[in-house]
Amino acid sequence: MDIPRIFNITESAHRIHNPITPEKLATLGAALRLEPGARVLDLGSGSGEMLCTWARDHGVTGTGVDLSVLFTEQAISRAAELGVTDQVSFIHGDAAGYVAADKVAVAACIGATWIGGGVAGTIALLARSLRPGGVILIGEPYWRQLPPTEDVAQGCLAGAISDFLLLPELLASFRRLGYDVVEMVLADQDGWDRYEAAKWLTMRRWLEANPEDELAREVRARLSLEPERYAAYTREYVGWGVFALMAR
Ligand code: SAH
Repeated sequence: MDIPRIFNITESAHRIHNPITPEKLATLGAALRLEPGARVLDLGSGSGEMLCTWARDHGVTGTGVDLSVLFTEQAISRAAELGVTDQVSFIHGDAAGYVAADKVAVAACIGATWIGGGVAGTIALLARSLRPGGVILIGEPYWRQLPPTEDVAQGCLAGAISDFLLLPELLASFRRLGYDVVEMVLADQDGWDRYEAAKWLTMRRWLEANPEDELAREVRARLSLEPERYAAYTREYVGWGVFALMAR
């Protein structure tokens, strides 16, 4: 059980698999006013950077669940590196339907809301693990500017314009689901560069080390075309943020 191998290749050197930077992740942790000992659940925890750094900086405890074998191993190594193995644990597995045994203060899904079948389904899933008064964190893309055509949306690797909302509409959608938006930290284009451009050097080095691999042609094609596609589309049109929600 694992994610498609292409992601384990292109994002093998990433600590954060999203356009949020370490600085903004720290800003978010501080903004949430986390109490020492607070329990955090992270579905699609990737390489564990959020849980590990918040354990170190705020004394939280937590569990991450992720489908990537590689990312889960990296999360476990990161916990050891930061000296927080007593506070956090990482489970390799499918997070769809995962509910924490002990209710948590913060339940997060950062850039992986397909786990619950979309934003609404993921909020409903996270809510099942949340203690009363707890905070749900959702990391999600939105349109910085509306694509003029469906072709532009597909250039952004969205299936359709309707896949994402403009920021005010996304915030309204949380309200309509019965939640107050109590904080948000938004990515910027520099953060997008860290997420997307970091894949290019990783791909280049992987190609040099694995010229005969069955995915070499695909990785070569991506490395050749991604910088231009990214600059023309994702960087201009796609916003991304983490939204903190409390049930009304
Ligand atoms: N939240 C992390 C990772 C985001 S990338 C961060 O911000 O760095 C999306 C993550 O979802 C990847 O780590 C991928 O392995 C994981 N994933 C995809 N499908 C999943 C599933 N069904 N269950 C658990 N994790 C999943």
